[in-house]
Amino acid sequence: MRCEEAASLMPAYLEGELPEAKRLELEEHFSSCFTCSRKLEELKRNRELLSRERDNILKAPRMLMEGVLEQVRKEKEILRKRARMLKTGFLGIVFTLGAAILTVLFKRKRHQPERR
Ligand SMILES: [Zn+2]
Repeated sequence: MRCEEAASLMPAYLEGELPEAKRLELEEHFSSCFTCSRKLEELKRNRELLSRERDNILKAPRMLMEGVLEQVRKEKEILRKRARMLKTGFLGIVFTLGAAILTVLFKRKRHQPERR
């Protein structure tokens, strides 16, 4: 087998698509040809890098989605806390105002007979 043929068969070899006979022929060439066996290693490494890259690209949208959902969850929690604080604050103001009005009314009632 010549180097050109070996090179052209490498992708199919890495995919495991070569017929048994061709595969053995190619492996025999690799064992005797340093250039081709190095080329094969390079090709293998590139394919691994590529598939890792592809995995990362596929994972990215999901990670982004999870990040967004987490952010939404946090903001909902903050909004809920703020609403609770507002409610408590509002009740406090109502209570204070009510107490002040009652005090004024009570004092006025008590003072009214003395004015006459
Ligand atoms: Zn070769």
